[in-house]
Amino acid sequence: MNDTVTRLTAVKEKIARAEIEAGRPAGSVTLVAVSKTFDAGAIRPVIEAGQRVFGENRVQEAQAKWPTLKADFPEVQLHLIGPLQSNKAKEAVALFDVIETIDRDKIAAALAGEMEKQGRSPELYVQVNTGSEPQKAGIDPREAVSFVGRCRETHGLAVAGLMCIPPVDENPGPHFALLEKLARQAGVAKLSMGMSADYETAIAFGATSVRVGSAIFGVR
Ligand SMILES: *Cc1c(COP(=O)(O)O)cnc(C)c1O
Repeated sequence: MNDTVTRLTAVKEKIARAEIEAGRPAGSVTLVAVSKTFDAGAIRPVIEAGQRVFGENRVQEAQAKWPTLKADFPEVQLHLIGPLQSNKAKEAVALFDVIETIDRDKIAAALAGEMEKQGRSPELYVQVNTGSEPQKAGIDPREAVSFVGRCRETHGLAVAGLMCIPPVDENPGPHFALLEKLARQAGVAKLSMGMSADYETAIAFGATSVRVGSAIFGVR
């Protein structure tokens, strides 16, 4: 087995253990393998090892490598986990199965228009800037619940869940707890939280999917 596949297996085992420790059903957490910066040659063995859900943070990079991989493995699900510009909404709707980074009305409107035009309905998440960091994407937590409401009522979008990236220098637990509370208030079921350093913690706080890159693919 190559190193990447060995690490994938280890991550899956840790997820299974964290599910048990949290008293959650086996298989209730989806692993999103974050393949950004890695080429198709590095990704292919991971798909062949059975991994079916992947995350990319740039539309253009994903467009360069995923159409071929998706043609070979049509059951692969691709998540957009990076910031989305409205001029890329068309490409994003065409390529991604899940878009996790809706954080403003302009993007919500652009996605709604493209989904209608293309007849495609990727699953949608709202990204929340739980640490209110000025440089970071995501809606402010104080506006998150009303924004989910606007996505539904103004833009006609079905929001499936919330996503967050906690500040790097803080204990992530309170951020995961905040996202879980906001999801309950907004009436959405899914929680995308936890990365290589903290996915087991995120599972304890209710993550339904974790986005793990370097722990699988190695350092970027
Ligand atoms: C890169 C990235 C990840 C994965 O980070 P690792 O620390 O390598 O696991 C998760 N989420 C987002 C939004 C990312 O951009």
